[in-house]
Amino acid sequence: MIEDVIYLDNNATTKIAPEVVEEMLLFLKENYANPSSIYYLAQNIKKHIETAREKAARLLNAEPSEIIFTSGGTEADNMAIKGIAFANEKKGKHIITSSIEHHAVINTCKYLEKHGFEITYIPVDKYGIVDVDLIKKSIKNDTILISIMYVNNEIGTIEPVAEIGKIAREKGVYFHTDAVQAAGKIKIDVKEQNIDLLSISGHKFHGPKGAGALYIRKGIKIDALLHGGHQENNLRAGTENVAGIIGLGKACEIADEDLKNIKMKSEIKRLRDKLEKGILEKIPKIIVNGHPEKRIDNTLNICIKYIEGESILINLDLEGICASSGSACTSGSLEPSHVLLALGLPHEIAHGSLRFSLSKYTKEKEIDKVLEILPVIVQKLRNLSPFWKKGK
Ligand SMILES: *Cc1c(COP(=O)(O)O)cnc(C)c1O
Repeated sequence: MIEDVIYLDNNATTKIAPEVVEEMLLFLKENYANPSSIYYLAQNIKKHIETAREKAARLLNAEPSEIIFTSGGTEADNMAIKGIAFANEKKGKHIITSSIEHHAVINTCKYLEKHGFEITYIPVDKYGIVDVDLIKKSIKNDTILISIMYVNNEIGTIEPVAEIGKIAREKGVYFHTDAVQAAGKIKIDVKEQNIDLLSISGHKFHGPKGAGALYIRKGIKIDALLHGGHQENNLRAGTENVAGIIGLGKACEIADEDLKNIKMKSEIKRLRDKLEKGILEKIPKIIVNGHPEKRIDNTLNICIKYIEGESILINLDLEGICASSGSACTSGSLEPSHVLLALGLPHEIAHGSLRFSLSKYTKEKEIDKVLEILPVIVQKLRNLSPFWKKGK
């Protein structure tokens, strides 16, 4: 039964909060009018959309007018990067990003390369932190945008966004950050951190799938991806995903409250640390990926030497435990994660990666169960591995 599943893949998606579902239902059922219509029924829905916008703005310390609703993190990333690129191509065609971005950013940059833009991919150190000095040195006269993620989805490393924001502002270059894994987990302040554009996604913090937002600092002009009606300040045409927007707003409101709840935050970290410590004690030859301190509280990424991450996942699944071998997009492909390779890990070790990501719904007995089962699975698989016998 779904109730018995131990869900430790919260960086792929999270359980939608019951309070979010409840609010959304009102807008899937009776409040079905098109918010662009003029009668009361429609205008009342419009008002609720604006309240959701205020809630999203509050989570980021932005103004409501600076929030554009999108269909999720991928669209927000595309909108930010292509939007700035096409609005500024007369000024310059150089963009700086990192080698460990989500595919929503990397593949958008690759697309722009085909359209004459020049992209610099900044490397990271062994913990996954970008080289800020190199970012600074890479800025040229024709640099228009720096896009560096806030928190990496695979290893949880937190990037020095405030530092990058300061450099970008001084140099007059726009700064976008993919904050999909940061929103709702750590305090974001777009003003203090000099962030010009920032992407969030509802389903990564207990909101609905298919609903996200892009923050665009007041005064910054971008090109739209979608052309049509005048919705979202002419930047995102199409009848609004009303229930999704309402759900995203509610998720932002709850996240804002949860961020003030020190006890909840420290409990997630305590359980993650317990899992990490337990695995290191019970299983030999483990590498922990990501930064020891500058890491988001809910994420543990490890490499289990001499076995494949995928085979561990299948065995965990048979026990009702959901985890990941890295990014969901890479699962099923034979290439190891580009993030782990960027850390300098060799292919054969990167293949043995496993990611556990917790949430506020994670219970201690679930962590205990993993600590009981994982060592047995690893031992079984290692006994079958010729590399383990040789390497030991
Ligand atoms: C999940 C994720 C995305 C994509 O968001 P969607 O809403 O699923 O499109 C982008 N960036 C990061 C870092 C993510 O974790």
